[in-house]
Amino acid sequence: MIRFFNVSKFYDNLTALRNVTFSIDKGEMAFIAGPSGAGKSTLLRLVYLAEKPDAGSLTVDGIELENMKESEIPYLRRKIGVVFQDFRLLNRTVFDNVALALRIRGISEREIKPLVYETLKMVNLRHKADSFPSALSGGEQQRAVIARAIVAEPTVLLADEPTGNLDPDTAAGIIRLFKEINARGTTIVIATHNRELFRNTGKRVFTLDSGNLVSQGVG
Ligand code: ADP
Repeated sequence: MIRFFNVSKFYDNLTALRNVTFSIDKGEMAFIAGPSGAGKSTLLRLVYLAEKPDAGSLTVDGIELENMKESEIPYLRRKIGVVFQDFRLLNRTVFDNVALALRIRGISEREIKPLVYETLKMVNLRHKADSFPSALSGGEQQRAVIARAIVAEPTVLLADEPTGNLDPDTAAGIIRLFKEINARGTTIVIATHNRELFRNTGKRVFTLDSGNLVSQGVG
């Protein structure tokens, strides 16, 4: 589903990623680990096509990015759901926040309603559909963000420190939710500095340090 071959990314004279080679299978749930500044967010931004690699090649769902036309980027992005820190909830109801992901795709309001309610049920937020984000706990807000990311049924879900501001029990609940979403067939990549998140998950863990892929193991 995702393949990096000798991918490097530089910011001025700083190397954010150096010759990174790995791949994530279709239907897999995997973790990108490493300390702050290791290059995890950069790696996810490359997959999401928010940035281009400076060297190497990158394939997402069989599409080689080097050969991709600018006009094809929105098409590929539609296959990718993101739970990034800078994609915050809007000051609208939970329903509207999740519905927005479908409205921008031109889906009719008649179709949107059942899809949004079904997704809110899955993340256990059906009862909060009419609430505003400010009235939700941190864990509930993150579940709303996840609902928005999955409502359009992406092929790949990318999450950057999805439990960053949550207590350990709430974080464990979020990881259980990702496992459920993964069990329905979505490929998931989670970047985190927190080893507790992948301990005993049995999922593959790719560890970055100073832009280098230093180990591959199982959590
Ligand atoms: P992580 O997600 O593991 O904390 P990042 O991918 O955010 O790491 O950052 C990797 C390195 O690249 C860091 O040294 C960071 O300061 C640098 N970096 C990231 N984005 C930019 C940018 N847009 N401009 C300059 N440097 C950046």
